[in-house]
Amino acid sequence: MTRAALERWFTERGENPAKAAILFQRLYQQDMRSFEELPFSARVKSALAESFTLSLPETAARTGDDLTEKLLLKLPGGDFVETVLMRQKYGDSVCISTQVGCAMGCVFCQSGRLTKRRSLTAGEMVAQVLKIRRELGAKLHSVTVMGIGEPFDNFSAVADFCAIAADYKGLALGEKHITVSTSGILPGIKAWAELPHPCSLAVSLHAADNELRSRLMPINRIYPVAEVIAAAADFAERHNRRVTLEYVMLSGVNDSPEQAQQLAELIGFCKRFYVNIIPCNGNDSGFAQSSRERIMAFYDVLKKNGVSVTMRREFGGGISAACGQLSSDFQGGRV
Ligand code: SAH
Ligand code: SF4
Repeated sequence: MTRAALERWFTERGENPAKAAILFQRLYQQDMRSFEELPFSARVKSALAESFTLSLPETAARTGDDLTEKLLLKLPGGDFVETVLMRQKYGDSVCISTQVGCAMGCVFCQSGRLTKRRSLTAGEMVAQVLKIRRELGAKLHSVTVMGIGEPFDNFSAVADFCAIAADYKGLALGEKHITVSTSGILPGIKAWAELPHPCSLAVSLHAADNELRSRLMPINRIYPVAEVIAAAADFAERHNRRVTLEYVMLSGVNDSPEQAQQLAELIGFCKRFYVNIIPCNGNDSGFAQSSRERIMAFYDVLKKNGVSVTMRREFGGGISAACGQLSSDFQGGRV
């Protein structure tokens, strides 16, 4: 529940809504374990305990390397999702999942091979962050909403999660340290731009050519790439924010210098865009990684055209925790 919703909850019970801020701080900044710890009357504490739970999902499996840890979490009801902690130079970053599976079916992505079982609640998203903090002692710096699922196929829960994570009385990360990545759900991008304080936006682009993008990402057949780019640029201008365009390099598919030129022409009009080149991570999809030379040539074409471009540092490839490798299929052993 967002702080605004919790304030309403207190008001409806004739209580001072300022209690919401106290509860938020105890919960998100002091790791409160029980409502008994609150400085409220016994009546209020028991009403809270009747309405809400503070329990976190169980860890079903934990894997890690030097910089990355991945938790497979068992949700009440028996579903599984994965959450990843990345230890960056500037602090710890958590990548959360928003759905059990994903309905978008992008052909290069492991999560797209799962069927979508359900969307997560805002609470289940917050719980992933709290779990990483409690179990792995993370010092949170940022959150990426880039795990399993399409965030804008679960818009209101994701918006609530972001509000709680950004809130200075909540997880206190601030809007700019939370990035939501979408495969290009046009109405979602437009609605995100309507929020008063939206978190940062990333769009998974992966191809500038409409026909190729439709083959890679079926959602493009409904929302063509040009319209997605226009909406993302509008968001960037209205909120004075940079927008990341993710581009996974698939060998022989979308990684030629001509395709880089086409990309520069599509996005060059908006200086708030920057391209994040992602090496393709291994999974069952059959796509191969582009060679280093091919990636560098692509990068150079973008640079020459004045496009801002970075290369994503890869985390967790060896433990199936990198982009495109997450799964919620515990039965299949892909932990
Ligand atoms: N569903 C959202 C967010 C989660 S995916 C989205 O698609 O944007 C996080 C990022 O990983 C996306 O940019 C996605 O396209 C990318 N990705 C998917 N499969 C990948 C793979 N095999 N290698 C590298 N990145 C991949
Ligand atoms: Fe879903 Fe994103 Fe994977 Fe596409 S890339 S299948 S939208 S998780």
